[in-house]
Formats: sequence, C-alpha cells, structure tokens
Amino acid sequence: MSRYWSSLVHTLTPYVPGEQPRLPNLVKLNTNENPYPPSPRAVAAIRDELGESGETLRLYPDPSGERLKEAVAARYAAHGITPRQVFVGNGSDEVLAHAFMALLKHDAPLLFPDITYSFYPVYCGLYGVAHRTVPLDERFAIRVDDYLAQDCGAVIFPNPNAPTGCLLPLAEIERLLAGKPEAVVVIDEAYIDFGGDSAVALVARHPNLLVVHTLSKSRSLAGLRVGYAIGDAALIEALERVKNSFNSYPLDRLAIAGAVAAMADGAHFDATRQAVMRSRDTLTAGLAALGLEVLPSAANFIFARHPARDAATLAAALRERGIIVRHFRLPRIDQFLRITVGTDAQCATLLAALGEILQ
Ligand SMILES: *Cc1c(COP(=O)(O)O)cnc(C)c1O
Repeated sequence: MSRYWSSLVHTLTPYVPGEQPRLPNLVKLNTNENPYPPSPRAVAAIRDELGESGETLRLYPDPSGERLKEAVAARYAAHGITPRQVFVGNGSDEVLAHAFMALLKHDAPLLFPDITYSFYPVYCGLYGVAHRTVPLDERFAIRVDDYLAQDCGAVIFPNPNAPTGCLLPLAEIERLLAGKPEAVVVIDEAYIDFGGDSAVALVARHPNLLVVHTLSKSRSLAGLRVGYAIGDAALIEALERVKNSFNSYPLDRLAIAGAVAAMADGAHFDATRQAVMRSRDTLTAGLAALGLEVLPSAANFIFARHPARDAATLAAALRERGIIVRHFRLPRIDQFLRITVGTDAQCATLLAALGEILQ
C-alpha cells in the first residue's frame, strides 16, 4: 500500500498465475502448457524474421497484425471467416481484457459460472464490470437454462470450462445465443482443439457471438503471447477501438511471424493435439485405477479428486517428488487437483508417484 497509488489500485485483487519455478527436471503439470515443441515452421519463421542482424527489429511491427488476421481467417475459411471478423492480441488474456471493457460492461450484470477461469472476476474489478455468478450443476456442468432465466448484459465462459475440463455441446451454446440475442456471449475456447467443436461455426449466424482462442495451448506457443478473437465485424471493431486506445503494437514482429506460420501448419497441430488426447485417455484410466474420480475432460488437463485423501496434501507430496500440479483453495473444488496432460513419460511418472503416495 502506498499513498501514491490510485484509489482503483487499492481495490484490485490481481490474478495469480500458476508458478513457473526455475528448478530444472521438474515434471511441470501445473499451467496447461503443451508438452510438445511448437511447429518447426513457426520457429523457422521467427528466425527468418530476426535474420542475421536483427535489422527488422529497428522498425515497428504492423499495428493491426494483418498477416495474422489473414492466416486465422484462412484456417476458418470453411466457416466463411474473413480478416474483418478477426482480432489479434498479446495472448488471449489481453483479448479477453479488451472484451471485458469493450463488450461485457453494461448496466445489467455479466454472467459467468461460479467455477471458472479466475481471471474473469479480476477483469470485472479492473474495469468495474457488474457481474453475477451462476452455479454449475452438481456434476460441474453449465446449465444453459439458468442463464436464459435471468436478465443480463452479457455472458462469458470457457468451453471446455476451466478448471473442470467439461465440454458444453455446441447445440447448447447455440440455444443460449438464440435465446439472448440482445446480449454478447463470449466463448473462451482456450482448450477447444483438444476434442470439442468450435463455436466459430456459429459466428455467421449469430452477431452476438465472440469466440476467443489462444496459441498458448494447442499450438505450444505460451511463450510467444498470441491470442485472437473471431466474431461479427461490429464486435471486432469495438475491440480495435479499445486496443487503439491502449497499445498500438501489442504483437511484436517475432510473434506475428511465428503465429502466422503456426496457424498454417495443420499437420504439426493435428499430430501434437492427437498425442495429447491419447495421453489424456491413458492418464484418466490410470488415475481411475488408483481410485480417483476424474471429471470427463475435453481439454489438455484433467480435474480429479480422491474420495479419502486431501487434495492439498496430495499436491504437496507430489511436489516433494518433483511433480507440480495445480490446486485451487476455492469453494466446491478445494478437494480437486488440476493436472496438465504431459508426455506419456511425464504422465507415467505422475501415476507412479501417486501410487506410492496413496499406498
Ligand atoms: C490459458 C487460458 C487463457 C490465456 O491464454 P493466453 O493466450 O496464454 O493469455 C485464457 N482462458 C483460459 C480459460 C485459459 O485457460
């Protein structure tokens, strides 16, 4: 606290990301990073952009990231997406932040689940967004009827939800969009590439839909900081207005070059996400065999609890063995562990350690 702080800063409760320890040889299963390297074509494009001398870094990047918008639109060409329906930002967290200010702040409250991405209430605090949480059902599923039943200014949730991993079928999202045509609905699809159907398919029919994606998970580029949103051109214009009132150049030259190449490398994308999904099935079966209850996951992490053993104690015991997973001290979920799907070798190490701990 300091008397030099603005009154707003005194009220903030910032988001706390999962730790990034600098210890070597950790089995790091706590922040949903992809265990596989990014596309070699992305790495080559970053090297090309940098060149021998780094000469291009002298110049500002393209402020609107047009090449990346084109690459994203090309990836979703089957759904008729054009670059005017694409917004790009410095990680999807920045895209989401702009959406809170540009599209989710209204007199009527924003609705989101009681158990969800814990950055949402932080943005509400930063931007003064009125909001109300809607409880997930007893099986941790989003009930669309609960959202349709109340007045609201907008709706946001991840699909699959975080940190549960549970997927809401696309037909349910469309029912929400059709039932609330006056409200913007933001679907945060950070994990959609690990087994779900993207709501990008609904953008052409629903001008109130904004879909947010990241290259941090399924494209293995968390360190590059690139995210994007797809929606009606009017929604994208709102995001551009906020972005151009905040930072003209959110994406640097290396990020644009790497992201363009990553979006175009469908083969690497498919191979790595298939590998993650196969490992998820093996990990789920292994945890179930150890007596844990595992929620059905469509993401690159699983959410699991032991019926008799305390989750915080389990997380601490894993940590002593060099394995870090995420534990949230929050109502309803404080007995769960969120475990990122690693390589098969990492998953095997985790299962062996848990087996020992539970003995
Ligand atoms: C990881 C994650 C993000 C943030 O992704 P970045 O692009 O790395 O900022 C957004 N939403 C959810 C639900 C996430 O899990």
